[in-house]
Amino acid sequence: MPRGANWRSRISAPANYELGGQGRIRLRYEIALEHDKYEWPAGIEEVAYHTDEGLMSTGYALLLAPGDAMQGAIDIRFELPKDWKAITPWQSTGENRFAVPSRRELLNNAMFFGTAPAETLQVGGVELTFVLGKRYRASKDLFVELLSKQMRSYREYFGGDPLSSRYLIIVNQGKDDGGAYASSFSQLISGDATAENRIGWGYVMSHELLHFWNGLSLVRKDSRDEWFNEGFTDYITLVTQANNGLLDQNRFHWRMENIARRYLFARIGQHLGMTVREAGADKQPNRELIYGGGALTGFALDVELRKASDGRIGLPQLIQSMYAEFGKPGLTYSLEDVERHAKALTGRDFREFFAHAVESKDYFDARPWFEDVGLRLDNFLFDESYVRPSPSASAAQKQRFRDIFGTQVAAP
Ligand SMILES: [Zn+2]
Repeated sequence: MPRGANWRSRISAPANYELGGQGRIRLRYEIALEHDKYEWPAGIEEVAYHTDEGLMSTGYALLLAPGDAMQGAIDIRFELPKDWKAITPWQSTGENRFAVPSRRELLNNAMFFGTAPAETLQVGGVELTFVLGKRYRASKDLFVELLSKQMRSYREYFGGDPLSSRYLIIVNQGKDDGGAYASSFSQLISGDATAENRIGWGYVMSHELLHFWNGLSLVRKDSRDEWFNEGFTDYITLVTQANNGLLDQNRFHWRMENIARRYLFARIGQHLGMTVREAGADKQPNRELIYGGGALTGFALDVELRKASDGRIGLPQLIQSMYAEFGKPGLTYSLEDVERHAKALTGRDFREFFAHAVESKDYFDARPWFEDVGLRLDNFLFDESYVRPSPSASAAQKQRFRDIFGTQVAAP
């Protein structure tokens, strides 16, 4: 897999069992905790693994939970080896006992059982608990800095808290990857976590954290708008990290290059000929097109909104407007809604823009939008993209750069 292709958010498909009759049964079962003996398509951090401090597991891998019978809140208690603790995203009601709001929350979450200590941060209205494996405890301050800065920025970008007010993050050593759940995410990092390599681990963590808003609170109607879910998450991660001083100018350019390259590689390297919307039907094979095409669309839209409104409206205002309407349980948005909000905010019709960006099989040449913020993008062959300050950047373009990316990254 090309570098940067390892961010995943996948919700595992539960298996189904049928019982004859409608009676109530008491079930005792054993689980072979041998998940590490198998290859998992989206990575073992989305299933279950051991460390020398305990066990990480998702609800899906551990629990049988009858779909029809399990309505409403669930009371769960874990009996664990001495000195072990259960760390979950749920409200504690006793020793290793929790109140789980729903069956979905029960299954679609990651949890940790063992001796690893947990820390809790309050950011805005959200209670963030994190469990760092041994290797990462020395880097705790870096994690806290990243999590608190990014959480504050997302809250501002969306204009409110995510739907869930309690989150759990579990970090251990392993093959770089991450997976987001209803109120938790699970991340593996291959080496130490430092400020130098934050471009890797910090990006995955920020991306997954942002899914608590985009994806879990602001929910797409169907897979055709997966580009908005993943691509905008990547783009907003980049923008907020730049604003928060978490990317220096080199790293900022690498990140911009990366979104351009992913799209280039999908279209020219992988010969993916479908539209960006169509790509959502089969996420894993089409991920470069979904993430790259979606992130480029987010960037181009951010610029176009600003051009259409004398700089008054950008992507944050559009997201806030959508979040005010759709950031509620059970509601979903689609492309028409994005267009409707863009038009309501700026007076401009964005139909043609989206037809070109996500509903066309033609190559989406993003160079003009890079120019619009004073950057020059050069693509070569099928997998090389380079971004640098444009030698002819105008004052207006430089200002637009600062409006979007802030002043922590040097403007062109
Ligand atoms: Zn994602």
